[in-house]
Amino acid sequence: MQILVTGGTGYIGSHTVVELQNKGYEVVIVDNLSNSQIEVLDNIEKISGIRPAFEQFDLSERDLTDAFFQKYSGISAIIHFAAFKAVGESVSKSLEYYRNNLVSLMNLLEGMKKYKIPNMVFSSSCTVYGQPDVLPVTEETPRKEAESPYGNTKAICEDIMRDYCKSHEEDINCIALRYFNPIGAHETGLIGELPVGVPNNLVPFITQTAAGLRDELSIFGEDYDTPDGTAIRDYINVVDLAQAHVVAIDRMLTKKSKANYEYFNVGTGEGYSVMQLVKAFIEVTGVDLKYKVVERRAGDIEKIWADTSFGNAELGWKAQKSLEETLASAWKWEKKVRGL
Ligand code: UDP
Repeated sequence: MQILVTGGTGYIGSHTVVELQNKGYEVVIVDNLSNSQIEVLDNIEKISGIRPAFEQFDLSERDLTDAFFQKYSGISAIIHFAAFKAVGESVSKSLEYYRNNLVSLMNLLEGMKKYKIPNMVFSSSCTVYGQPDVLPVTEETPRKEAESPYGNTKAICEDIMRDYCKSHEEDINCIALRYFNPIGAHETGLIGELPVGVPNNLVPFITQTAAGLRDELSIFGEDYDTPDGTAIRDYINVVDLAQAHVVAIDRMLTKKSKANYEYFNVGTGEGYSVMQLVKAFIEVTGVDLKYKVVERRAGDIEKIWADTSFGNAELGWKAQKSLEETLASAWKWEKKVRGL
């Protein structure tokens, strides 16, 4: 079975490629390398022993996407990661975000119909819930208006899939996975998250500070309505998350889906505050991490974590790895990248 992984040299994509290969799937990656490096292919090969096929182009180019599907005629399913994902940048570059993220999805859906590829797993986000009124969030929790153009592209992409599935009951199946906060790296330390420039996300900022690239971590706000005043998120190990994609692919290929458009929360069900995470990192690694508390970051929500019971029961999947193990893997990766 051949699976197309778009964005397969990126952070979550590369881990998913390895997990697919571990389960015997053949992978072809499409990536324009706008936010990842070609060397990731070498490291995927080091882990799995198999070098995935690779094509470099931009999926928002309709003709190139069509030519790709003509060339690769044996694809059974698509996992679509390729997208712009920087929340802050999406505010100043909103048209680029809408064009890239929406048009790529539409080109793929068009190709699925034309070339008879029935299945797609889509990379969505818990950002579609905004700040929920009731916690934890289930799949029934209403979506809220997005805080950023990036978040809005995820909501609109979900709507595009829902509407397209409605009119293609016979030949199109989509599953949207709403990720909570993916962190950590592969246990080998060979693949992980490699942000360009100053990291926006908490764990890469922590590991870069620990590695001496940044002076000090800023904790954004300690006046939230949470036990220690810092914001709460549901941090999920990236390998656990990657395995959820394989399970979703299996579900579609073995025709276990209950509807041709489904969506699931993918988190651990546990919320940790920024301060708890920082303290856990210090404890696990023994590194004396410098941090200070500063003002809240604009656009941040106070707290969110997943109710995973529906996804766990339906998919037969559950996050396995502890926060400690996950933070240790993030640190191992950072040290490897920096040659420490
Ligand atoms: N955060 C922080 N310092 C940083 C980066 C993030 O205190 O340098 C906080 C952020 O305010 C949020 C949490 O860490 O409460 C997770 O942020 P991240 O950007 O990793 O993910 P988000 O939940 O915003 O998608």
